[in-house]
Amino acid sequence: MDTSAFRAWVGEVNRLIAEHAGELTELDAAIGDGDHGINLRRGFQAAVEMLDNAEADTPGSVLTTVGRGLISKTGGASGPLYGTAFRQAGKSLGDVTDVDAARLGAALEAAFNGIQQLGAAHEGDKTILDALGPAVTAYQVAVEKGGDLAAATAAAAEAADRGRHETGPMLARKGRASYLGERSIGHEDPGATSTALILRALASVAAGEAS
Ligand code: ADP
Ligand code: MG
Repeated sequence: MDTSAFRAWVGEVNRLIAEHAGELTELDAAIGDGDHGINLRRGFQAAVEMLDNAEADTPGSVLTTVGRGLISKTGGASGPLYGTAFRQAGKSLGDVTDVDAARLGAALEAAFNGIQQLGAAHEGDKTILDALGPAVTAYQVAVEKGGDLAAATAAAAEAADRGRHETGPMLARKGRASYLGERSIGHEDPGATSTALILRALASVAAGEAS
């Protein structure tokens, strides 16, 4: 994936988040404060505008620019968490101009580690990590089996979607939803749902379906 493919990914995330903003906000209204869709729509819109005005001539600088935009404009718990994820992923890409499957896997892992370090959550706590963790694992398994970027990102997107469905019966242990205790059970996590959308966008771009 080259710089323009990474720009296409961000554009496709922005489109999907805007399309699903109502659903994300409804999920957050059930177990949080009902702003997740609004937060992310504002954040990714700002990130796209920043990218339009930025040099960002490597995949890494595209992702670090998005991270800065998300941190400055998203708000909520998810802004700093996603912002850190994109920045760490960007940093891990360094100056490479064409990202292969192995490098993208390392970037996804860096994103996971960034969120885990900042938010101190673990898989099973009903957060973003419950979609991202399975996605990173599925991605790496696909690469080990010889899968290319399209195959590995497709596997990651499917695993993220399964992961977000699996947050339904979980008890929230982090973020606002944790204040609800047992009442958080029975609702899918908004952050895990947005992560599944971000990975779906990545798979579409890698498959050449979005540009
Ligand atoms: P806020 O909770 O401040 O209103 P958002 O509604 O934008 O922020 O985001 C809520 C989402 O953030 C949750 O659904 C959850 O997935 C994610 N989240 C909250 N705390 C953490 C954490 N410590 N680690 C990972 N993800 C978290
Ligand atoms: Mg919220």
